Amino acid sequence: MADPGRPVVPGEGPPDEGSPRAGLAGAELAGLGVSQGRAAGPVIRMAPPPVLPSPRQVADPAAEAAAVVKALESVTADLRQRAANAARDTGGGDGTASAGADDAAEILDALAMIADDPMLREDAEAAVRDGLDAPHALDAAFTHHRETLAALGGYLAERAADLDDLKHRAIAACLGLPMPGIPAPGHPYILVAEDLSPADTAGLGTDVVALVTEKGGPTSHTAILARGRGLPAVVACAGITALADGTVISVDGKTGQVGVGLTDEAVAEVRRSDREERERLANSSGPGRTADGHPVKLLLNIGSAADLRPGAEGVGLFRTEFLFLDRKREPSFEEQVAAYAEVFARAGTVVVRTLDAGTDKPLPFLGLLPEPNPALGIRGLRVDRVLPAVLDTQLDAIAEAARATGADAWVMAPMVTTPAEAAGFARRARARGLTRVGAMVEVPAAALLADRLLAEVDFLSIGTNDLSQYTFAADRQHPGLADLLDPWQPALLKLIAACADAGRAAGKPVGVCGEAAGDPRLAPVLVGLGVTSLSMAAVCVPSVREELSQHTLEECRELAALAR
Ligand code: PEP
Ligand code: MG
Repeated sequence: MADPGRPVVPGEGPPDEGSPRAGLAGAELAGLGVSQGRAAGPVIRMAPPPVLPSPRQVADPAAEAAAVVKALESVTADLRQRAANAARDTGGGDGTASAGADDAAEILDALAMIADDPMLREDAEAAVRDGLDAPHALDAAFTHHRETLAALGGYLAERAADLDDLKHRAIAACLGLPMPGIPAPGHPYILVAEDLSPADTAGLGTDVVALVTEKGGPTSHTAILARGRGLPAVVACAGITALADGTVISVDGKTGQVGVGLTDEAVAEVRRSDREERERLANSSGPGRTADGHPVKLLLNIGSAADLRPGAEGVGLFRTEFLFLDRKREPSFEEQVAAYAEVFARAGTVVVRTLDAGTDKPLPFLGLLPEPNPALGIRGLRVDRVLPAVLDTQLDAIAEAARATGADAWVMAPMVTTPAEAAGFARRARARGLTRVGAMVEVPAAALLADRLLAEVDFLSIGTNDLSQYTFAADRQHPGLADLLDPWQPALLKLIAACADAGRAAGKPVGVCGEAAGDPRLAPVLVGLGVTSLSMAAVCVPSVREELSQHTLEECRELAALAR
């Protein structure tokens, strides 16, 4: 793995204020490659929210009022353009549409309507008449509208947070600053940001050809979403946000290298080699097998039907929360049935993970209270302690979608910690006719009692991302702790071995569905430890298949013994 955050070019000084760092042309930056593939294109940075300057004395109120109107018009036009782009992406039909792009178009249209609301404009104009300059008048008008909506309660109160985003956009437009939020330039580009939320990543249009962030870790959900979409991505890349918009860069999502200031020939070469590599990998097929024929199921990790690709033996992890990241209201039973059935109809066996909300994957519709240590709080299955109806509705919807499609639907809960939790989940799932019920092992306590968990459920699926986080007390999003989060850590491998041993004794499957399962070098070790399936992003399947076919089961066991 590349050394994170270290510019490769020696002697490079800090950039001048606002300079495009043109001096970096021909240079390289390095971060952590988290989603394989190569891309080249112009950088566009996602701007942070603007900071309000100190209030100005207003000399010409008419000019300030005109500035207010112009800012609101420009925000409205920008949102309408983005809605049109999102609608176009949805209709792409090439399997590359972003998850929830149709929802994104609706949401952007609704936001455009709010920005175009005459009452909002009149409020801001009145604030100008009261003596405020244009940016402060916009701030006052949006704040007033936010409070009004919040006081109404219900659905309208849930929309109040949208007004903050609109306010930032309007103030940025008024100050002549770049628009905050995901850019929509109308041409392919490489998105550069300080950091991205999973909701930002899920809503990216097809014009984004790669992602590079200054922060972030290899198992963050943003990295996982990028991998699911086959989008090359590099995180923890120091210096990337200092590049000017339009700088042409190359991104290698495997090595973490970012080339700066490319010639046209170099751009063409990067694109050609990426195309060839994708074609090579796309030609790989067949079930997972060691060299001597021991079967290891190779499964897909998906966030929606858009992540499905041919060539795997089913879905080993359907992260259902990715469907609903930007929802302000709980998705209805009918809507959930439709979303699950879309996947079930296209994939034979599907392991559905019930909603895993919390920490870096907030689901606004759950309305969970802020916590001082969210990773250690109410997340995953623990949400059931405060909102049991949510799991009931989801299990009903999964069972109904399975019935309607005849799919082989397995269901498992995230963040199971005790055998009692596993038993409670299994009881509720089986009561709905779901016969294959499992538990994720993401907490060391669960790994240590894997045999007792298996007395309650039919299978285990090891989530190495969280199991690493909780075993090593290392935030999975922390770019500086990648060594502790490395899945080769012997303590992690010993926990995996304990689960596999329990599975062998019980005669039940134990798979790995964390990002470790997609590492081709680690695959023989995991198989040698006794893991029965590996579930990963589609882009990882061919290289894992290739690597496994090079080793007999006995060699896998020898490698495992050396590694643990
Ligand atoms: C994991 O923790 O390894 C896992 C598969 O779940 P997620 O990454 O969605 O938390
Ligand atoms: Mg997890």
